[in-house]
Amino acid sequence: MDYKNYRLETLAIHAGQVPDPTTQARAVPVYRTTAYAFKTSQHGADLFALRESGNIYARLMNPTEDVLEQRLATLEGGKAAVAVASGTAAIYFTITNIARHGDEIVAANNLYGGTFTQFDAILPQQGIKVNFTPVNDFAAVEAAINERTRAIYIETVGNPALDIADIEGYAKIAQKYHLPLVVDSTFTPPTLLRPIEHGANIVIHSLSKWIGGHGTAIGGAVIDAGNFDWSDPKFSLYNEPDRGYHGLRFAHDLGDGNVIAFALRFRTVALRNQGPTLAPDAAWIFLQGLESLPLRTLRHSENGLAVAEFLKNHPKVAWVKYPGFDQLAEKYLPNGANGMVVFGVKGGAAEARKLVDNVELFTIIANVGDAKSLIIHPASTTHSQLSEADQLKSGLTPELVRLSIGLEHKDDIINALDEALKLI
Ligand SMILES: *Cc1c(COP(=O)(O)O)cnc(C)c1O
Repeated sequence: MDYKNYRLETLAIHAGQVPDPTTQARAVPVYRTTAYAFKTSQHGADLFALRESGNIYARLMNPTEDVLEQRLATLEGGKAAVAVASGTAAIYFTITNIARHGDEIVAANNLYGGTFTQFDAILPQQGIKVNFTPVNDFAAVEAAINERTRAIYIETVGNPALDIADIEGYAKIAQKYHLPLVVDSTFTPPTLLRPIEHGANIVIHSLSKWIGGHGTAIGGAVIDAGNFDWSDPKFSLYNEPDRGYHGLRFAHDLGDGNVIAFALRFRTVALRNQGPTLAPDAAWIFLQGLESLPLRTLRHSENGLAVAEFLKNHPKVAWVKYPGFDQLAEKYLPNGANGMVVFGVKGGAAEARKLVDNVELFTIIANVGDAKSLIIHPASTTHSQLSEADQLKSGLTPELVRLSIGLEHKDDIINALDEALKLI
């Protein structure tokens, strides 16, 4: 199938799939199997030696996941994708697919709480140092890069301050120092923003959020743009013979596959030897989510904007941040800014928590990207492991309330907030 002429709405429904050739099932079947039969012993030998491509064992590949991976790669404009058990696993195995003990990465400091902790507390235990720099402070990024740096890591829209990363600014620096630009685009699904078009090399998604869209499964994915040259010797994982794969050098020995060396190494090392496999049932849930993603991101964006505008004019609200109000929105989010809104309640943390405890319709929950509207006080929950200084550095103040606006009617959402604000 040649997808070039189809638009995202069409690709979200069709990319990567034809009716099942054996049964003619129109929907993508869930292949609940651990392994796949070899036709003959020679067939098995050819698959293991990579002389023929095909399914071997479901830790590495599954036909349900294959459709999900092809569809995500197509929607993002990438060359290959690998789905894994969670967004957190996608991030961790992306870093360890690029950097090894003694290497460093440079990251923005406004990351998702779990990612910040992984970078700040876990990676250093394994000898990978992360240098955090304020988002869009390009002088600080350049100052943090040294001969051990192996990647630049950002989120398209930061959490919880919802500031938009200037991806093209980061891409320019990444190219100057020949480093891959890794972009977590969870807050901006490909119907709203496609980081590869702005110079990203690797795109990461937590599928658990808007792509799944209904708060029903955990999963993650990495998309390889196929636009990075890994043959630079500083990327030793790609240039030295791999002991785990009969001496293969991933940047040199894959033929046509060299351009997607990152994705191929991710599958043959991270999935095969470290095992963060996604369950096929979860992959099926994410395929259902993708089919309606274009419609849902439109509605999330419409509702998010309406709520942000309501709050901006409310006397009990000190300030509002919505990515659509950011000056970079015109460039990076022309089709809508999704449903995340944060705001400060006048009166500080106590009043913020009172609002959270009194609002109807919203659920108090540590999640985003559900069809249902969600609310949380991050300083006392999602970001409570951070010191107050680190909280402030990432834009988190005590009076901040975070909303993930769902797909309900916008008047009902706004009325619920209005009633709760009356009580504080
Ligand atoms: C949720 C989230 C993650 C982690 O994904 P999980 O699927 O929950 O492991 C990473 N980055 C961002 C921006 C997220 O919102």
